[in-house]
Amino acid sequence: MKKIGFFQLNSCSGCMFAVLSSTIFLDLLKSADIRLFRLISDVQTEDQFDVVFIEGGVTRNEEAALLRRLWTEGAKIITLGSCAVLGGIMSHSPNMHIDPVNKFVDPYATLPGCPPPQQLLGNLLMSAIDGIEFKLPEKNVCSECPFAQDQTYDVEITSLNALHPPKSCFLSEGILCLGPITRAGCGARCIKGATPCDGCLGALDRNLPSALANLFSVLKVSDSIREYAAIAFRYQKPELKFK
Ligand code: SF4
Ligand code: SF4
Ligand code: SF4
Repeated sequence: MKKIGFFQLNSCSGCMFAVLSSTIFLDLLKSADIRLFRLISDVQTEDQFDVVFIEGGVTRNEEAALLRRLWTEGAKIITLGSCAVLGGIMSHSPNMHIDPVNKFVDPYATLPGCPPPQQLLGNLLMSAIDGIEFKLPEKNVCSECPFAQDQTYDVEITSLNALHPPKSCFLSEGILCLGPITRAGCGARCIKGATPCDGCLGALDRNLPSALANLFSVLKVSDSIREYAAIAFRYQKPELKFK
């Protein structure tokens, strides 16, 4: 039986609740030795893990040291959610500096999303049970969107929010949607819920600034939208380096 731990760093517990609500979690309970999951159990064994799932980003030296210890002891580290993978929405806190987990250790597998989509999460949990390699989709959100055939970049983007469910692609209605540069896997759940994609699954080519630069080079974005950078970098703050 694989020895598994679920660790929470600086996070909102949303990813762990997504794990708990996954139908695959029941299989995991039967077929794995879950040694640590503070959200649901006081039973804690702090050592000897084969696989650990990490939710949340890193702020303290002790958290970085914990990750390094788990890694050097041979645990496969799986980062769960946009905070652990990208820094996430938590990294915008004015009171603390948050780094993604991969700044300290080399994850065996990663699953972004805020929270991660259930289908991919189920595949990831299965991979922890069976040792099957987990792979993220190599398509964008538009590939799963019912409005993909209406997509056009010719309309001026004048809004960041949808006031009503879309009748066609958000971009063709003048509303910013990051579906073209965002990794698929959620089934375009926000668009189906009448909200444009703000990129929680991360950039498909893993380089968000260059993906955004390419997208914004073909979009006509109105000067009236001043806060679009806050949407574009919601889950992954750009690293600014000044000389
Ligand atoms: S990725 Fe989203 S759901 Fe998961 S811990 Fe961070 S804020 Fe919460
Ligand atoms: S840009 Fe947004 S609304 Fe348009 S096809 Fe892509 S995901 Fe769908
Ligand atoms: S549509 Fe975009 S923001 Fe919404 S879940 Fe999918 S990737 Fe995340």
